[in-house]
Amino acid sequence: METLLLKADQNGIEKAGEILARGGLVGIPTETVYGLAANALDGEAVARIFRAKGRPMDNPLIVHIADVDDINRFSLISEVPAGAVELASAFWPGPLTIIMPKGKAIPDEVSAGLDTVAIRLPEHMAARAVIRAADRPLAAPSANLSGSPSPTTAQHVLNDMDGKIEAVLDGGVCRVGVESTVVTLAGDKPRLLRPGGITLDRLESVLGEVEVDDAVLNKLRDGETAASPGMKYKHYAPKAHVVLIKADDDAYIDYVNSHADDGVAALCYENDVRRVNVKAYSMGRKDDYSSQAHALFDALRAIDDDATADIVYARCPKPDGIGLAVYNRLIRAAGFEVIDLEEV
Ligand code: AMP
Ligand code: MG
Repeated sequence: METLLLKADQNGIEKAGEILARGGLVGIPTETVYGLAANALDGEAVARIFRAKGRPMDNPLIVHIADVDDINRFSLISEVPAGAVELASAFWPGPLTIIMPKGKAIPDEVSAGLDTVAIRLPEHMAARAVIRAADRPLAAPSANLSGSPSPTTAQHVLNDMDGKIEAVLDGGVCRVGVESTVVTLAGDKPRLLRPGGITLDRLESVLGEVEVDDAVLNKLRDGETAASPGMKYKHYAPKAHVVLIKADDDAYIDYVNSHADDGVAALCYENDVRRVNVKAYSMGRKDDYSSQAHALFDALRAIDDDATADIVYARCPKPDGIGLAVYNRLIRAAGFEVIDLEEV
C-alpha cells in the first residue's frame, strides 16, 4: 500500500475524513503525539490499528471526539460519572483522557473487553477538523510500532508506518510531546493511570484528592495486571540499552565521562551536552519540564536513527509536575534500570 502524505489544509483534512469514513487508517497530529486513527465505531477498522502497530489486543484505545456533544450523539458512555463534567469543562479541549463506563456503541476492539471507555477531546485544530470531516469519533493510539517511542512528527509516523496505513496528515511538531494524562472516574475514587500534560495538581484542584496508580512510578510485580494495560514495564524504548542515572549535575557528568567509550551515549539536559565526552542527545532544559516532554521522544528516536549507541546513560528526570510524565516514560524506556548515585 502507498501511504499518502497529506498537508493539514482543507483538501488534506477532507481526504483524511473520507479515508477514515470508509474504514481506513490515518496518522493524525494532536497536541500530545501523533495518533493512528480509525473509525471508533467500526470494530474491523479498529482491529487494523492493532495489526499495523503490532499492539497486543488487550491494550484498549482512546476515543477522540471533536465536541462534548459527540458523547451523547454517538452513545459513547452509559452514565456520566461524578467529576466528569467538571474535568471536561476545566481541561477539554486538551491533553486529558477520561475513563468512563462504556456505552453500547463502543466495539470490544476499542475497550479490549473492559466495561469502560477512554475519551479525549484534543485541542489540536487539525485533529478536531478530521474528526468532523469523518463525522465519527476516532479511536487513536500513538502512531508508533508497539514498544517504540511515540511519534511527535509526521516523519516519525512514516518511519514506522509507511506502507501499512492509507495516509499521514502532517500538522507539524506536537506541542506537548508526551501522551495525554489518563484519569479514571469509573471506580470509587478518581485515579491517575498515566501522567501527561495535565498535572496531578491541576486534576486535584478540580476533583479533590486523586489516587495515583502504583504503575505510574513502579514496576508491576510478576502476575500483577495494570489498571491501564499500556503501562507495561518496557515501552517507549530505543534499540540501545538505556540506563537512568540519578545524580546531581557534576556526579552525572563524572559518571558518564568515566564510562566514555565506543557505543556509549548520553541523554541529558541541554547544559550537560558540552560537558560530556560522548555523543550527547538533549532531553530539554533542566527544571523546565515542558521542554523535557517536548524533546524526549524525538531524542529517543534520534538515538535509533544514528544507531551508533549500544548503551545510553540518561539523566533521571524529577518526577514533579509534567516531569512526572517524562519520568514515567523514560523509566519504561530503561526497563526500570536506575543507578542511584545519590544513595551511595
Ligand atoms: P496510547 O493510545 O498508545 O496513548 O495508549 C492509550 C492508553 O490508555 C494506554 O495506556 C491504555 O492502556 C489506556 N486506556 C485506554 N482505555 C482504557 C480503559 N478503558 N481503561 C484503562 N486504561 C485505558
Ligand atoms: Mg502508545
